[in-house]
Amino acid sequence: MKNIIIAIDGFSACGKSTLARDLAATLGFAYVDSGAMYRAVALYLLDHLVPIDDLEAVGQALEHIHIAFKNVQGQNRTFLNGEDVEDAIRDMRVSAVVSLVAAIPQVRRMLVRQQQAMGQAGGIVMDGRDIGTVVFPQAELKIFLTADLDQRVRRRMLELSARGLEPIEAQVRHNLLERDHIDATRADSPLRQADDAIVLDNTHLDRQQQLELALQWAYARATEV
Ligand code: C5P
Repeated sequence: MKNIIIAIDGFSACGKSTLARDLAATLGFAYVDSGAMYRAVALYLLDHLVPIDDLEAVGQALEHIHIAFKNVQGQNRTFLNGEDVEDAIRDMRVSAVVSLVAAIPQVRRMLVRQQQAMGQAGGIVMDGRDIGTVVFPQAELKIFLTADLDQRVRRRMLELSARGLEPIEAQVRHNLLERDHIDATRADSPLRQADDAIVLDNTHLDRQQQLELALQWAYARATEV
């Protein structure tokens, strides 16, 4: 199997990271959750009281932000300046501002450069909003994941509950819609389906079914190139 690049994009809470993680584990590829990187930047700005609309302050803050992924007991976890922030970046306070942070061109420039470096050798699955359009326009396989809004809200509620949180449905729904709107309408790298992406609607598919479909496409693309 060739070391292809697989790009997975789509709206919030469509199950992108579940599919990306499953694909990477099955194919023996690296997995990168690009959203975690935007979340880590947002967490840093919140914790250091950096106003998101002060672009100069944000630019200075970026010089002090180092993001890494490490495998801890079989789990891929996000580290910000050496600290494990995997749980903190999933908090609602981060979800509430992350799309505003991700709309800042300087932030995108820094993170896209790091993402492209991670994918240099291929053999990678990355999920996000602009992976097939901006980060890896040359990716051999691009998947645009979609799902019904109700289904997405249900899945995100379950995910947050499983983390021991007590999510409020109206709040979760509002946050998904708001992030989708900001992500799809921002000037820099808006979320959109790449022309050569395959659309995968997983509303009525379970985890195994969506993995099997994506694996078929991955094997086909890896032997074509
Ligand atoms: O994937 P996740 O929902 O954790 O991403 C959090 C936020 O990060 C998104 O709502 C979006 O604003 C931003 N993001 C982005 N580009 C990416 C990945 C995430 O703008 N490639």
